[in-house]
Amino acid sequence: MTTVKTITEVRKILKEVRSKGKTVGFVPTMGALHEGHLALARESKKNCDYTVMSIFVNPIQFGPNEDFNRYPRDIKRDETLAAGAGVDLIFNPEVPEIIGDNLLTFVDINKLQDNLCGAKRPGHFRGVCTIVSKLFNIIAPDMAFFGKKDIQQLYIIKKMTKDLNFAINIVPCDIVRDNDGLALSSRNVYLSHEERSDALVLSRSLKLAVDLIENGERRAGVIIGAIENNIKKVKTAVIDYVKIVNENMEDADTAADGNITAIAVFFGKTRLIDNFIIGEKICF
Ligand code: AMP
Repeated sequence: MTTVKTITEVRKILKEVRSKGKTVGFVPTMGALHEGHLALARESKKNCDYTVMSIFVNPIQFGPNEDFNRYPRDIKRDETLAAGAGVDLIFNPEVPEIIGDNLLTFVDINKLQDNLCGAKRPGHFRGVCTIVSKLFNIIAPDMAFFGKKDIQQLYIIKKMTKDLNFAINIVPCDIVRDNDGLALSSRNVYLSHEERSDALVLSRSLKLAVDLIENGERRAGVIIGAIENNIKKVKTAVIDYVKIVNENMEDADTAADGNITAIAVFFGKTRLIDNFIIGEKICF
């Protein structure tokens, strides 16, 4: 496995790879790798001849009061984990290599960012779409792998890929959880021991919603109310949102199959998200 830091190097290596007729899989990440990221890399390895992972903490997807500066970074550890998961090339650029000193062009998506995290984190998806577009142009993969953990991001990237005619197959991958149900996230390292145990209310509340739905409850308001009440039992938890939305990220009245139950909750300063797609098999 090789790590490179410049666009020129990535392009040179991938030109060579493609000249041999190999397909390229791409896994974009911000590093601080965990099993969720590695599952994406393994899926790429299974489906493509050559796997590229980007490790780039994207400054323009963070709000001014968010955690860009303290976001965990450990490239040596990431390299070991990525190599173990079958990654062939890590692209780990410095900020100026990607942003330059005068970025004037942005990719913005209408409607799909108006709810959920997009509504709570203004500019977040503009930052994501801009940088993912740049990475798509630099790497030009055949397939790109995204986690359902960031469900709104996944739907936005799918739509952006279609709208901008990127010839890339976007592959959704299931959420990877710890044994106790907490969805893996690079931000879990911020949690104190107590917050880590309080955060289990996320998956517990989603499980409660799954049970309600399986027992025939389809009214979105009732399910949302049950989730909120359950979260409020945990004193340190502060709800950012609890929503049921359709594929266009609009609030839905019913918990119909294909709709998404999505939650965002603060534990101390740490904001965690979780979700499930209604009707899909859930493992937690
Ligand atoms: P991040 O490094 O947090 O930007 O995430 C990079 C990619 O990994 C995104 O496609 C995420 O959705 C995905 N990802 C993060 N956590 C998980 C998880 N627990 N399970 C599956 N995919 C994940």
